[in-house]
Amino acid sequence: MALLSIPHSRPDIGYKEIRAVTGVLKTGIIAYNGEVKKFEENFRKLIKRKYTAALNSGTSALHLSLLALGVNNCSEVILPSYVCPALLNAVNYTGAVPVIADVRPEDGNISAESVRIKITSKTKAVIVPHMFGMPVNVREITALGIPVVEDCAQSLGADFNGKITGQSGKISVFSFYTTKVLATGEGGMTATDDSKLAGRIKDLRSYDGKNDYKIRYNYKMTDLSASLGNVQLSRLRKFVERRRKIADLYRKKIYSPVIHHPLENKKAGNIYFRYVVAVKKGGLPEIVEMFRKRKISAQMPVFKPIHRYLGLDKREFPGTEECCKKFLSLPIYPSLTDKEVERVINTSLEVFSEKQ
Ligand SMILES: *Cc1c(COP(=O)(O)O)cnc(C)c1O
Repeated sequence: MALLSIPHSRPDIGYKEIRAVTGVLKTGIIAYNGEVKKFEENFRKLIKRKYTAALNSGTSALHLSLLALGVNNCSEVILPSYVCPALLNAVNYTGAVPVIADVRPEDGNISAESVRIKITSKTKAVIVPHMFGMPVNVREITALGIPVVEDCAQSLGADFNGKITGQSGKISVFSFYTTKVLATGEGGMTATDDSKLAGRIKDLRSYDGKNDYKIRYNYKMTDLSASLGNVQLSRLRKFVERRRKIADLYRKKIYSPVIHHPLENKKAGNIYFRYVVAVKKGGLPEIVEMFRKRKISAQMPVFKPIHRYLGLDKREFPGTEECCKKFLSLPIYPSLTDKEVERVINTSLEVFSEKQ
């Protein structure tokens, strides 16, 4: 039998999800309605924040969070370099100047120190993602006095010092894109305790039925997506358990002097959105190719860092450059079967021993 490919990500969609979406289709009310409101309420309870707003993507959630905080074309917004361009887009949509901070080479996360040196009198917000599911100590960054947009697109269910991610930002944002911890196809959410901010976000996400005119957006989530989200949310605890179990197996069984396993921190409950190893020897593109030939999609977890897109001097981003050079992401997700996990382990051992 031909060997089946193991993709880098794959959502876990079961019969309950199929039944939920079919149920919505049968009602004929398929856009923003009751399922979205239910999803917002379920999510609000999980994150324990006062207000949530469901949106059509994580990018929209970032965009509206920045607008709600008053970011405009006279502002600066700090964001890390080692992320996908979604963050840069959200800042540029507002007209603000993106100010790029370097990350820690240990785990690809932004640090309070790298943010602090980028603050000016124009800084209106800082976007703090928890990369690969490894939580950042957001408190250290909040202490700098700049409103934090906590980007939990990769960290739903993770915690730091017993506090789950999403509770520390002035506004916290989430994504339910198909590769993320919960999948609704596309989707996003904001969470905050500030009623004014929540009100602005809800006002900006839809254009109809308003007395005044200003630029607003069509960023609403649909009931089709939300019905998927509600079922996925009920499975979150199991999803996180499974991710941690697989991570545990990788850590124990992929023994090789060629790699470092992900950093562990007693205070941080990583959910292993990505299992990212640091390769000490050998070019990453070649290793990616060796996995590909064995029908496993291992990837460089950030395609191209922001400072390179912007043509900034790479000597100012040594942490990010190091991450780009060494980080390799192995498939890890709840729908990975035990057999597939075993294949990832054996293939990794094979590939890394060839690199020794
Ligand atoms: C995926 C992701 C986003 C963007 O979310 P979309 O739903 O794809 O728009 C933002 N930030 C981080 C850290 C992400 O991983």
